[in-house]
Amino acid sequence: MPVQGKDAPDAATSAPQDAATVVLPSSSPLPSSDPLLSVGDQALPASDETPFWKRLTLEEMSSTQWESLCDGCARCCLNKLEDWDTGEIVWTAIACELLDDETCRCRDYPNRHDFVPDCIPLDPETVRTLTWLPPTCGYRLIAEGRDLYWWHPLVSGDPETVHEAGISAAGRTVSESDIPVEEYEEFIVAWPGEIPETEAPKG
Ligand code: SF4
Ligand code: SF4
Repeated sequence: MPVQGKDAPDAATSAPQDAATVVLPSSSPLPSSDPLLSVGDQALPASDETPFWKRLTLEEMSSTQWESLCDGCARCCLNKLEDWDTGEIVWTAIACELLDDETCRCRDYPNRHDFVPDCIPLDPETVRTLTWLPPTCGYRLIAEGRDLYWWHPLVSGDPETVHEAGISAAGRTVSESDIPVEEYEEFIVAWPGEIPETEAPKG
């Protein structure tokens, strides 16, 4: 008997009922329409301070600090497929209809739930519960007690490094608006669930 993803409780609405796979929500959300606004602002530590992401728990972070943990990769805005029998989750290159493929930003973050009700708000509990957050995700890294990578804008000071390092989804997606669900399996990709071999956690 096929089952639906227990870690994506809102995923069922778009599931093809007669298929072996289920479409998981196109995303968890980018936490802000401009998640990098705080880079260079109060989210950044003073030079002689331990960075906030190394000294605070997820629960202790301010909203500005929380939002700045998003590296802007947009990997979480990609659709995923889950095998109903095995529970295996695979990524696709099919992006949420609101994702701008060039900038990796949500086109209408304040009103996104009017269009994408499955866009899951991230909070500390959700971050620790979702099994499919990308291994490069800033929230997942901190939740697992790891450090941010060199290309994270909080480390590099440059919002472009996530793109330059080949981490982001920029230029690598197709819109779900253009792809029928029956064809999703043709767009399965591995890279959203991978860390480039040349990369190593900083610190
Ligand atoms: S609505 Fe779509 S593009 Fe916007 S944050 Fe959610 S998944 Fe990403
Ligand atoms: S995967 Fe994590 S870091 Fe990347 S856009 Fe989504 S929330 Fe932000």
